Amino acid sequence: MIYTEDFLILANQLIDAGRFIDSKGWVPATSGNFSARLPDGNIAITVSGKHKGRLQLDDIMLIDADANSLDGKKPSAETVLHTSLYKRFPEVQSVLHPHSINATLTSRIFKSEIVLEDYELLKALAGIETHESRVVIPIFANDQNIPRLAEQVEQYMNEHGAIYAYIIAGHGLYTWGGSVQETLRHLEALEFLFDCELRLHGVKRL
Ligand SMILES: [Zn+2]
Repeated sequence: MIYTEDFLILANQLIDAGRFIDSKGWVPATSGNFSARLPDGNIAITVSGKHKGRLQLDDIMLIDADANSLDGKKPSAETVLHTSLYKRFPEVQSVLHPHSINATLTSRIFKSEIVLEDYELLKALAGIETHESRVVIPIFANDQNIPRLAEQVEQYMNEHGAIYAYIIAGHGLYTWGGSVQETLRHLEALEFLFDCELRLHGVKRL
């Protein structure tokens, strides 16, 4: 398959993002997956089972908006969690999903949601202009049935409106944004804020 210039640009951004995310230790042992939306609505996404810190161009594939492979490669089992975010939010152009220690521990301590407020770094999230903000990140039970999990996320947003990210318990974090760069900024800020909350509340409250 001959990929478009748009695909190659975004694929390279995802490769670079993976190197950075891996340098932080947020995608151990081939976990996680990343994607970015092309102007034509198709999506560049990491191939299943590749180490996200050592991605090559061949490890990024093309799917359509309904998660069908367009190049014969096999996407991650979690692809539907990406495509449902793109369908819901026309402004979202990238989705990043790491399996970080902070997101995993946060789900063990805070159970159904973590509330982030009165942090200067909240301003790293698109649209937030003051530390006097309250951001709720919901935590969903892990589920190997991905369409069912995607449905749970949809229902939450139907009831509570748009969110910046969500955590899957004992698993990892999903966050998104208007570009790969913006999504990386969201990820880095959320990891810092989870870290603050974990240090504040400790890890022994099980
Ligand atoms: Zn995952």
